[in-house]
Amino acid sequence: MQFDILTVFTDYFDVLKCSLLGKAIDDGKLSVNVVDIRDYSQDKHKKTDDAPYGGGAGMVMTPDPIVRAIEAVDPKHEALRIYMSPRGKTLNQAKVEKLAKRERILLLCGDYEGIDERVIDLCIDEEISIGDYVLTGGELPALVLVNCVARYVDGVLGSSESTSEESFSDGLLEYPQYTRPEVYRGLKVPEVLLLGNHSDIRRWRKQRSLEITMQRRPDLMAKTDIKPYMPQKPKKKRK
Ligand code: SAM
Repeated sequence: MQFDILTVFTDYFDVLKCSLLGKAIDDGKLSVNVVDIRDYSQDKHKKTDDAPYGGGAGMVMTPDPIVRAIEAVDPKHEALRIYMSPRGKTLNQAKVEKLAKRERILLLCGDYEGIDERVIDLCIDEEISIGDYVLTGGELPALVLVNCVARYVDGVLGSSESTSEESFSDGLLEYPQYTRPEVYRGLKVPEVLLLGNHSDIRRWRKQRSLEITMQRRPDLMAKTDIKPYMPQKPKKKRK
């Protein structure tokens, strides 16, 4: 899978050298092409922003360097072109799984007060937000998107890790996890996990997962057809 990332702050993407993603890039499972929008500016000072028409605070990224960069990187419009934007649809796990089916994704990072709207009109397929808050630039949102989408690319996660049994994979939050030691500062690992009965463990995990989701994210429960086990009150006998 290939990502093209367009930004004026390329250094942000140095973190992609770390951890599982860095290894996936080295192994050729994932390709990330970070493009400096300034390289496409025709201004003699490589300027990429200007004051907003109509007045107001801050600077707006000018359309020409961005449009040129997009046309150079993706001349045949083969990539899904996404602008990271607080106005976009909020990213969630279902969307992440959909995006992971794409072969190529281009991510445009805005900065300052954002980009000239005509870039969106001319070149962008969709806008995606990573949450209802405003960051200084689209670089961290782009890194978030690359990271969660790359986890679904074959060979990126080690064989011991999986996307199938974790928060959101079945619409619920994950059950609690434990490792050694068996007792830590007086807190014991739940007995069921030590006894080795796999169907009991599965049932315990599902129940905890449901309880945690109901407590913390009742909105998720409303979207799933999984119903928690509720002990029924014994029916009164008719006299
Ligand atoms: N003036 C814009 C507004 O009010 O919607 C905010 C601009 S923000 C300071 C600069 C850039 O950060 C945006 O162009 C966008 O690329 C990125 N950005 C900020 N918050 C974001 C979010 N929650 N999700 C995705 N991108 C975001």
